Amino acid sequence: MSIRFTALSTALNRSKLQVAKSTEPVSNYYGSHVFGDAVMKKDLTPEAYTAIKNATLKGEKIDEQLADQVASAMKAWASARGVTHYTHWFQPLTGGTAEKHDAFFEPDHQGGSIEKFEGSLLIQQEPDASSFPNGGIRQTFEARGYTAWDPSSPAFIIGTTLCIPTIFVSYTGEALDNKTPLLRALQAIDEAAVSVCKYFDENVTKVNASLGWEQEYFLVDSALYNSRPDLVLTGRTLIGHAPAKGQQLDDHYFGSIPERVLNFMQELEYECHLLGIPVKTRHNEVAPGQYELAPIYEEANTSVDHNSLLMDVMDKVAIRHDFRVLLHEKPFAQVNGSGKHNNWSLGTDTGKNLLSPGKTPESNLQFLTFFINTIKAIDTYGDLVRASIASAGNDHRLGANEAPPAIVSTFIGSQLSAVLNQLENTDFMTSLKEKGERDDQKLNVVNKIPEIKLDNTDRNRTSPFAFTGNKFELRAVGSAANCAEPMTVLNTIMAQQLKDFKEAVDLSIEFGVNKEDAIFSVLKEYIKSSKNVRFEGDGYSEDWVKLAEDRGLNNVKTTPQALDFYVTETAKKLFAENNIMSRVELEARHEIQLEKYFMRIQIESRVLGDLTVNHIVPAAVKYQQQLSESLNSLKQVLSADAFEQTAKKQVEMLGEVAGHINAAISLSEEMLSARKKANKVEHAREKAIAYCEEVKPYFDKIRKHVDKLEQTVDDELWPLPKYRELLFVK
Ligand code: ADP
Ligand code: MG
Repeated sequence: MSIRFTALSTALNRSKLQVAKSTEPVSNYYGSHVFGDAVMKKDLTPEAYTAIKNATLKGEKIDEQLADQVASAMKAWASARGVTHYTHWFQPLTGGTAEKHDAFFEPDHQGGSIEKFEGSLLIQQEPDASSFPNGGIRQTFEARGYTAWDPSSPAFIIGTTLCIPTIFVSYTGEALDNKTPLLRALQAIDEAAVSVCKYFDENVTKVNASLGWEQEYFLVDSALYNSRPDLVLTGRTLIGHAPAKGQQLDDHYFGSIPERVLNFMQELEYECHLLGIPVKTRHNEVAPGQYELAPIYEEANTSVDHNSLLMDVMDKVAIRHDFRVLLHEKPFAQVNGSGKHNNWSLGTDTGKNLLSPGKTPESNLQFLTFFINTIKAIDTYGDLVRASIASAGNDHRLGANEAPPAIVSTFIGSQLSAVLNQLENTDFMTSLKEKGERDDQKLNVVNKIPEIKLDNTDRNRTSPFAFTGNKFELRAVGSAANCAEPMTVLNTIMAQQLKDFKEAVDLSIEFGVNKEDAIFSVLKEYIKSSKNVRFEGDGYSEDWVKLAEDRGLNNVKTTPQALDFYVTETAKKLFAENNIMSRVELEARHEIQLEKYFMRIQIESRVLGDLTVNHIVPAAVKYQQQLSESLNSLKQVLSADAFEQTAKKQVEMLGEVAGHINAAISLSEEMLSARKKANKVEHAREKAIAYCEEVKPYFDKIRKHVDKLEQTVDDELWPLPKYRELLFVK
C-alpha cells in the first residue's frame, strides 16, 4: 500500500482519544504552574517582593542579595512541583522561543549532590548561542550573548523545567531578540502617554499598553501531515488541487466543533490555564480544518510571552492527539489563510482605558486626544506597520482578498467619522487677543464635544487597523508571527506621536492659549492632515487600490520591499531617538529578516522541485504508461477507423499527461537555474529580491501542471494526500 493510503487508513481509524479533562472549575488550578503574584507575596520576603514589584512597574534593578532570595524561593516552589531543571526562556530572532535546560543539582564534592539555584543564575546567563541569527552583530569568534531576567514576566513550569523569561542581548549590549525592543517601546509609550494624561488627570503615573491576540490555526491529522513533505518542511502545501467542496458553503464557520478537535482544544485550554494564559474563546474558522483561539487581553509584554508560549504548547498538545498544528499564513491555496489579530489599547493605573469614549465631554476630550493621535501615528508611520508584519508567509494573505490589503489604513466607523467631521468644522478658537474671554471659551470648547455613542455592529472586516469600540484591532498580523514586532512598532510610533502632540500643545499654552483650546486646535489640525489614512469602504475592492494610489498611500505587496521601510532615515531616527533600537540593531534586524525571507523561499523551491521530480512525475509516468499500453492493445484489436473513433479521447488524454509531465520537468529545471543564479547574489536585499522575483514565480507555474496531473492521474497512483483528505478527514 502506498504511503498515502497507509496514512489515510491510519487517520480514518483513529480511536477516540481520552483527554486529561479536568472536571474541576478552572479557578481551582488557574496559574498553578506560574510563579505569579500570589505565590511571590506568600513565598518571598517583603523586601524581595517589593523589589520585584518595583522592577515590574518602574524598571528598577534588583540587587543580587534580593535576587538570591527570589531564586531560592523559586527553586523551592518549583522543586515541590517535581521540577528538576531550569532554563532562561527567550525569543531569538528566529521568531520562535529558545530554551537550554540546566539541572538544579550540583555535586557536593563528597560523592553526593545538592540542589542549587543562585540569584546570579537567575539574573544573567551566557548561553553558547552562536547559532542564533544576529545580522552580523556578533562575530562567531566572539559568540557570547547574554540572557537577562525579565522580572516583569513571571516564571513558569513546563513539564519538569522552570522557565524564566529573559531578554537576549549581545556581549556589547545590542538586542538579539524580540523582547528587548518591545520592553523599550513599552517604556516609551508609558512615559509619553503619562505626560499627555497629566493634561486631564494628575493622578495617572503609569500607562500600560494592552494586547489581546486572536490566534487562527489549522489542524491536520499527523499521519496525513507526515506523508506530505511540503507540510513537514515548509508548513504549507506547495501543490494540491482544490477540493470540489471548499469553504463556499460557509458551513464550517462557527459550526459545531468535531469531537476529536474539541478534545484537543480542551486539553490545550487546560494546559494554558495552568500556565496562566487566560484563553477564553474558541471556534471554527472560515476554512475547513481551521480554528481560532483567543484570550482575555493582558499587559502587552505578558501577552506577547503568552502568545509565544501558546504556539509552542499547541504543537505539543496537538501531537498527543495525533494532530499537527499549522500556523503558516497560507497552508492551502484556494481556502482562507490564517492571521493573528492584535487588539491594542492603552490603560492607566487609575483604571481607565484611554481608547474608550467616556460619559462626559471632559473625559471624551481625553478619549479624542488618544484616538486622534493614534490615527495621526498611523498616517505618519503606517509604512512601518506594514514592515512589522512582513514575512514570506504573510505575502500570501495581504492583498489576496481574504485579509486586509497591503495598504495601511484605518477604519473608525460612521459615528466617529461624523464626530471627527463635526470637530473639523467647529470653530472653537478664540483669537489670542480676546484673552479676557478665555474662561467662557473653555466652557464652549468642552460643550462643543459631541456625545459619543458607539454602535458595536459597526465593524469593517476588510480594514487592516479598525477601531472596535474601545481598542484598535491590527488585523494584518501573520498567524505564525511573534506579536512583539508589530507591538514594538505600534507602541513606538504612538509614543513619538504623543511626544509631538505634547510639544505642540505646550507651545500654544506658552503663547497664552488655554489648555483645552490648545488641545483642540492641535487635534483639529491632525484630523485635517490625517484624512488620507482613514478609509471606511471595502478594503478588498479594486476601487480602494486606485483611490489609495491617488491618496499617495503605499501598496507594497512583497516582503523584501516592505522591509525597506525599516531602514529609511525617518525610521532610523524614530527608533534611535526613542531608545528602541540603535541604527546598528535596526540594520542587523533588517538583514536577518531578508535572510529569513530568501531562505524560506529557497527551501520551498527545493521542496517543490523535489516533490515534482521524485513524487509527482514518477506517478504520472506510470499512468502515462498504463494509458499508452492500453491504447496499444486497442490498436491491435480495432480497425484503424474504429480506433480513430473510439480511442480519440484517450489519445488526447495521453497527450495531455505527457505534456504536463514535460512542462513540470522543464519548469523545475528552469527554477533550479534561477535559484543557482540567485544564490550567487551577494547582498541580502538583492538576493531576497532575486528569490522573490526570479524564483518564486515558478511556484505557480509548476503547480498548475502538477495540479492538472492530480486531476487526471488515477487516484490509486497519486502519492500524496489530497486537499479533500487533509482538510476534511477528522
Ligand atoms: P472579535 O474581534 O472576534 O469580535 P472581541 O472584539 O470581543 O472579538 O475581542 C477580541 C480580543 O480583543 C480579545 O482578546 C479581547 O480580550 C481583546 N480586547 C478587549 N478589550 C481590549 C483592550 N482594551 N485592549 C486590548 N485588547 C482588548
Ligand atoms: Mg477580532
